[in-house]
Amino acid sequence: MLKITNLTAHYGAAQALFGVDLELQKGTTVALVGANGAGKSTLLKCIMGLHSPTGGIISLSGQEITRKAPAQMARLGVALSPEGREVFPHLSVHDNLRLGALPLKLSKKLGAERMDEIFVRFPKLRERYQQLAGTLSGGEQQMLAMGRALMAGPSLLLLDEPSLGLAPRITDDIFAIIHQLSRSGTTILLVEQNAARALSASDYAYLLAHGKVVEQGPSRKLLNDPALRSAFLGAASDDNPAASRLGGAGLTNIRLEKNLMSELSFMPDFSTETELAAHQLNGLKWTVNHVWEGSSFYRKKFEGAGMTPASIQSLNDLRKLSFTTAEDLRAEYPFPLRAVPFEQIVRIHASSGTTGKRKVLSYTQKDIDDWGHFFARCYQMAGVTPLDRVQIAVGYGVWTAGVGFQSGCEKMGALAIPVGPGNIDMQIQFLLDFQSTVFCSTASMALLMAEEIHKRGIADKIAVKKIIYGSERSSRAMRLKISELFGGAELFDITGLTELYGPGTGIECSEHDCIHYWGDYYLLEILDPETLQPVPEGEWGEMVVTSLCKEAAPLIRYRTRDITRIIPGRCNCGSILPRHSRIKGRSDDTIKFRGVNIYPSSIDTILSAVPGIGSEYQIHLTRDNTGRDSMRLIIERAEKVATTRSAELIHEIGHQIKKQLLVSADLELVEYATLPRSERKSQRVFDNRLQGEIV
Ligand code: ZN
Repeated sequence: MLKITNLTAHYGAAQALFGVDLELQKGTTVALVGANGAGKSTLLKCIMGLHSPTGGIISLSGQEITRKAPAQMARLGVALSPEGREVFPHLSVHDNLRLGALPLKLSKKLGAERMDEIFVRFPKLRERYQQLAGTLSGGEQQMLAMGRALMAGPSLLLLDEPSLGLAPRITDDIFAIIHQLSRSGTTILLVEQNAARALSASDYAYLLAHGKVVEQGPSRKLLNDPALRSAFLGAASDDNPAASRLGGAGLTNIRLEKNLMSELSFMPDFSTETELAAHQLNGLKWTVNHVWEGSSFYRKKFEGAGMTPASIQSLNDLRKLSFTTAEDLRAEYPFPLRAVPFEQIVRIHASSGTTGKRKVLSYTQKDIDDWGHFFARCYQMAGVTPLDRVQIAVGYGVWTAGVGFQSGCEKMGALAIPVGPGNIDMQIQFLLDFQSTVFCSTASMALLMAEEIHKRGIADKIAVKKIIYGSERSSRAMRLKISELFGGAELFDITGLTELYGPGTGIECSEHDCIHYWGDYYLLEILDPETLQPVPEGEWGEMVVTSLCKEAAPLIRYRTRDITRIIPGRCNCGSILPRHSRIKGRSDDTIKFRGVNIYPSSIDTILSAVPGIGSEYQIHLTRDNTGRDSMRLIIERAEKVATTRSAELIHEIGHQIKKQLLVSADLELVEYATLPRSERKSQRVFDNRLQGEIV
């Protein structure tokens, strides 16, 4: 981003810089370390246009900027927080900040937004915003100087001696803010006398002495170089105990920091579909071989079908393999599909299964690591960063939900708030107190929370920007309602199932019209649930999955019963990862009504398109003495929609159902918020037709 070549500078006849070369990549923090008078500040002044160099070239993003005026530099996206703060003591905090954006001539609205961002980062400045800058403490003045520089929304931030003259505790605060800025992707050139601090806060460093670069390299490497430690950091030495104490004090503050945003990627490194397919074929071959060697269950199936690992030569050979079903898992209870010895199993999870035996799945340490990795990918795809605070309101326990959301969050480096489901009062209190920015729950729970936020009128006091919800279908109307009542949060539907690690096997992207699934971890087939033959690309069918690197309990053509379809082609978001539609329902919860197959999601779609209707409804199916079926729909009116509109709404819904589903239903409209809400999954289909027949 910034490239300095052979820079020289003078103060009168005295030369301050001698042919300095320096480079700075976008998104990194580079430290410029050296003693007082080494030329550090001169270099910054030359970049900012405050001092005119006598030779050499400075370029920014490929454009030469040597000797441009400071105001021009500000417009090019460079901002300086100067040595000694240089705040205007007789102006208020507010006015000092405003000056930072002056060369940019921002609109009033944008200016106010910027200031608000600064106040979020420096809450102290918000408290003092009418106070005169001269009355602030040194640390607060430093925050003001940094805030003023950030008002320009810089792409490159120059920080000159931010810790100079500050007490160690305040220095800690200032460096914590520098870490935050760096993690949020700001490019920083940091000039600092405190070498240990500067090196531990940066990616790369230049050591400057007498106007020359004497050493450079990755900061971590310089920090561990014994020669440099004794020269620059004052490390332990018998003849200089003072230096040793000083260096020690600096070094003990170095701890393992969270991941840097610029280094974070949980996406696969494929760039073409061909590479992905080659990876998939390797994974399929590995899996088939692994279960052949390790699982008596699969071996029996293979032998029954006359198959050996050698039968798999292409991805199409997958079709030769037999299916695995939920019944197989239950029959093999308590350790179904196990393909490794017990000493390699580090954990089990179980489904919450309501009928029969639970489905139990085993994990090796690698399985756990893989799951955490692709769950972090989910967060990353939803735009979650290490600066986010993730309130996890899904179930913790033997099932996979809570621990999945938790480990992905930790891998990504965000702050996890593991609340678990329910407990609305505590959830609300945490949203307010911790200012959680991401909320994870089922769709029903998100709706419940949204309505509670609305009821308490606190939408403008919470900070939730993203809601990640899963394990349940949700209508468009329900999504809109949740987003609106949460003050405009962005929703991301996450997929997953216990059999395939757990939640996090795919997620909606910022385009919001598909689910990306992790084709590097499993294969997805879409089959007709009746004939078990592949449906034409793009048509709805049952999702069947085959794992590619799962060790303890691999899946081969596992029938998930989830109904979806492949979306062909690349997504506009640019990700190479393949896509399917949101889960439409389960093949075993299709409603068969008077000879017509109805997915509950088609009712969602119809109701979402009728204005004046809320998101909640129930479908009741009954059978009379003559064997004739009836469907009764109980639907909530939207909030504040008058009862007098009921007749008109009923007419419209009835018409749409008849037109789109080719059946008729009895309709009843009820007041908003009268149908029960659930913290887990709301029951919407009540099939009472079979009762009489179960004897
Ligand atoms: Zn996408």
